[in-house]
Amino acid sequence: MIIAIDGPAAAGKGTLARRVAEHLGLAYLDTGLLYRAVGYQLLEKGDDPENPELAEAAAQALDPAHFDNPALRTDDVANAASKVSAIPAVRAALLAFQRSFAANPPTGKNGVVLDGRDIGTVVCPEADAKLFVTASVEVRAERRLKELQERGEEAIHARVLQDMKERDARDSGRDVSPLFPADDAFVLDTSDLDADAVFAAALDYIQQQTRSG
Ligand code: C5P
Repeated sequence: MIIAIDGPAAAGKGTLARRVAEHLGLAYLDTGLLYRAVGYQLLEKGDDPENPELAEAAAQALDPAHFDNPALRTDDVANAASKVSAIPAVRAALLAFQRSFAANPPTGKNGVVLDGRDIGTVVCPEADAKLFVTASVEVRAERRLKELQERGEEAIHARVLQDMKERDARDSGRDVSPLFPADDAFVLDTSDLDADAVFAAALDYIQQQTRSG
């Protein structure tokens, strides 16, 4: 079973994807981490994340062993990720990794949940269930601010909102694999829902899809 969960930053995809994976005994891949790992490598070396050759080389040298590095979670790395993710050669290099994960779930798992921006449209268009999880940019910036503050990071609302709008514009406006819901995706707006309600709605949809499919 393949479940695709796409949507903009801080819409609640990660929380939902983890919970769905746990509930259904599926493996989970946060594909944003791949782009973050590439962006991070460039920032670390003082390189420009918009340099196509350097970004491609970093994508080809991707090492999943580094995915749990907490440094990947910062907003600076998210912005670098959003820049490298607009480079076609970077997306091509990461596509193989994502498809191979989807096709070969780790032992003991019945399938996979992938979350990202283009899982239902490009990476796994054949997915059994496709969710597009979204929320207003104000709500997402508010959630992101809370998350940063809980981690003890300094954050200003206006700056977080501005960064979120810029990242949305880059992710939706790029030529390769822009962010948009697949035609057959279930669009779930989480602006007025808590995590339990989002999970219940998602599970309902997934069960309908997998029963009929
Ligand atoms: O989901 P997350 O915020 O970690 O993703 C960081 C950035 O990586 C996104 O803003 C987006 O530009 C890029 N990304 C992507 N395609 C994916 C996952 C993430 O372009 N499947």
